[in-house]
Amino acid sequence: MRGVVKRYGAATVLDRVDLAVAEHQVVAVIGASGSGKSTLLRCVDLLEDIDDGQLLLDGVDVSDPRLGAAATAAAQRRMAIVFQTFNLFPHMTAWENVALAPRVVHGLPAGQARQRAGDLLRRVGLDRFADAYPDRLSGGQQQRVAIARALAVRPRLLLLDEITSALDPELVGEVLTIVREVARDGMTILMATHEMGFAKQVADVVCFLDGGRVLEAGPPEQVLGDPEHERTRAFLARVI
Ligand code: ATP
Ligand code: MG
Repeated sequence: MRGVVKRYGAATVLDRVDLAVAEHQVVAVIGASGSGKSTLLRCVDLLEDIDDGQLLLDGVDVSDPRLGAAATAAAQRRMAIVFQTFNLFPHMTAWENVALAPRVVHGLPAGQARQRAGDLLRRVGLDRFADAYPDRLSGGQQQRVAIARALAVRPRLLLLDEITSALDPELVGEVLTIVREVARDGMTILMATHEMGFAKQVADVVCFLDGGRVLEAGPPEQVLGDPEHERTRAFLARVI
């Protein structure tokens, strides 16, 4: 992100945000409610138009307004996002949820899509639940299916928006374990999180967002352990 500005009416929600995610890196965005974390992820995923600045994916400006809808869609196909609330398709089984995008968006033959879905459900420990509908799964299981669904398109960049914050505390661990494994396998991840312990463990870079501005970014030991700014310190004192 280079100088990215996002406004809603008179409110500037992202204020000249510069942020880089290198290949195989995990970058965690932290900040108070309303600081702009979800907006940042939605802008990166091209779900929102930005008002200024640039979004570069593999060095290409994918936010260029001169790009047509087809180029935008092509850029979006290289990213996947998992949201806070479970948003699996309720009328589809777990494997159908995972196989849908590879089949419909990426044109994979049905048999291959089904096999990929099976492999991914195994990876998130849910192969026994392949034929279950979302309402038969716990929140943690649903988020694990959502992660499998995101991975099914083999994204260049995986976006995670506070994916454990709607879960009962006892279900958080199983989801974070999956993310940890996905990160260890080399996936490039940009995530908003309120799990500071988790950010400390898996993130290469932690970025503190305050009122739409990146106040500081750096290694977790620095930003979480010895922050530069008083506002970062105050935020951490509230959440840890
Ligand atoms: P939380 O931790 O609660 O999820 P957040 O850091 O994700 O918060 P955002 O959801 O990005 O924050 O919101 C940032 C600001 O933008 C807030 O002031 C919010 O009210 C505003 N905002 C977000 N979406 C819209 C919208 N579609 N229209 C108008 N204002 C919006
Ligand atoms: Mg949010």
